[in-house]
Amino acid sequence: MADYTALTRAGNPWIPQFVTALDEEKCIGCGRCYKVCPRDVLNLIDSDEDDDEDESAAAKMTLKDLGDCIGCSACGRVCPKNCFSYEALAA
Ligand code: SF4
Ligand code: SF4
Repeated sequence: MADYTALTRAGNPWIPQFVTALDEEKCIGCGRCYKVCPRDVLNLIDSDEDDDEDESAAAKMTLKDLGDCIGCSACGRVCPKNCFSYEALAA
């Protein structure tokens, strides 16, 4: 089955890549993905409640609403830890 294909303003086809997962173990809580996401997909969770004295990040990015993703892939372009996974939709 063909992938769902969108069009640029000039009418050129492109295939959106929608977020399927975020690896919270790799996330360092930098917030870059949150700043660039044009939709309401991500949520930065403060993890101050962690009482362990390990080196875990002070905040973690989580997925709030996958259904609002438009497949722009901007989050993955700015993520320094390659946390995101994507897939195209079947047409
Ligand atoms: S692909 Fe685009 S819309 Fe979807 S979570 Fe990433 S930045 Fe947001
Ligand atoms: S850009 Fe990557 S490392 Fe930074 S908060 Fe987002 S998922 Fe975590």
